[in-house]
Amino acid sequence: MRRSDFFLPTSKDTPADAEIASHQLMLRAGLVRQSSAGIYSWLPMGLRVLRKIEAIVRAEQDASGALELLMPTIQSADLWRKSGRYDDYGKEMLRIGDRHDREMLYGPTNEELITDIVAGDIHSYRDLPKNLYHIQWKFRDEVRPRFGVMRGREFLMKDAYSFDLDEAASRRSYNKMFVAYLRTFAAMGLKAVPMRADTGPIGGDLSHEFLILAETGESAVYCDKALLDLAPPVAGSFSYDDDLQSVIDNWTGFYTATDDMHDAAACPVPTNALVEARGIEVGHIFNFGTKYSKPMGAKVQGPDGSDIFLQMGSYGIGVSRLVGAIIESSHDDAGIIWPKEVAPFQFGLINLKVGDEKCDALCAAIYATAQSKNIDILYDDRDERAGAKFADMNLIGVPWQITVGPRGLEQGFVELTERKTGNKQEVWPDMVKDFILTYGD
Ligand code: ATP
Ligand code: MG
Repeated sequence: MRRSDFFLPTSKDTPADAEIASHQLMLRAGLVRQSSAGIYSWLPMGLRVLRKIEAIVRAEQDASGALELLMPTIQSADLWRKSGRYDDYGKEMLRIGDRHDREMLYGPTNEELITDIVAGDIHSYRDLPKNLYHIQWKFRDEVRPRFGVMRGREFLMKDAYSFDLDEAASRRSYNKMFVAYLRTFAAMGLKAVPMRADTGPIGGDLSHEFLILAETGESAVYCDKALLDLAPPVAGSFSYDDDLQSVIDNWTGFYTATDDMHDAAACPVPTNALVEARGIEVGHIFNFGTKYSKPMGAKVQGPDGSDIFLQMGSYGIGVSRLVGAIIESSHDDAGIIWPKEVAPFQFGLINLKVGDEKCDALCAAIYATAQSKNIDILYDDRDERAGAKFADMNLIGVPWQITVGPRGLEQGFVELTERKTGNKQEVWPDMVKDFILTYGD
């Protein structure tokens, strides 16, 4: 992408109404614009990141055997009356009336709708197990939307729903998602801590939250240091066909607690092995048996011909929250530092002297190479001061900067800067092509 063609409104000024770094940087780097409280437009740069995160989430859901579908954002109140949650949900639910005065709502989650679909179309134990997911916008009228997209009112969530014949099978489905989550967050360059959690309004008896550690996190996290050193399951070391219980036991065998659960006096972990931090909840998984299948009539005929209510679980990932959470855990005073895996562009090409024949020609050649290999590169071809270009490139956090200037070219080199470390190296112009091909995926 040529910067001169792109829509990337960046700013030097810290927005007054943004309290935390990720929110400030998302506005300054032109990723999002607020449209009303807790509701955002995703500008082209922000959307690129959102899509990358979505793709990582999708790839691992698919690998685990979950099937993607797409349910609507608007749902009928009747479904929620069936489960009994219509009245319970309270003011967080955005209630809407259509022209026929039918009560509708903007879905805050989809247990009811998916259970209704399954109740209508799955009738035999032979059709199980099934795990169905979608990546869709949700609306929750949060009392205090804040921190930008981290606690929005409209936000993008991946939500999966598992359906099984019995508790043991349902547990296997839960384990699969647990492993998928560990792998998903690792694939984004994040270390997520699974923590036993309260089940809250979704109900049920088994639940884990996945938190990434960051100073501005809303939840207090206490955990055994050893948990942070565990490496996520890698391909080849496990199979989604296994019951995965030993992997789960390994990950859940450590002490973890939130504020209300932690009692310093009773804590089994010695102080020097205890991590006290703050965390951002990026995922939450639940196993809740027949809580929805019973009232919604989701049952199948079992092997002996009897009716069996389906055992269910639900599994959420805050896709749009992750954009903020990743920035929160990876930035410096100059701006965002995107992990390569989710970066909107892998390379930022800075032409220090637009109009200089040699600079223009080399930049055009580098740009063409990247384009031809589908490597994401942002070419700053604007006629701007060098300082402003560097500041902008640092702000938007592209992993590698390639700087082409007349003085360097005269001496026969181009400068490569790694955003994360600030390390610079000077290379021959001819080597840039290889560099791009090596680091650009
Ligand atoms: P929280 O405790 O942060 O309010 P929750 O427990 O209500 O979240 P879940 O119902 O578990 O949320 O939703 C699944 C995921 O969706 C959460 O783990 C979180 O990452 C994301 N999420 C929930 N609420 C919001 C929100 N208001 N804005 C952005 N993402 C959200
Ligand atoms: Mg939660």
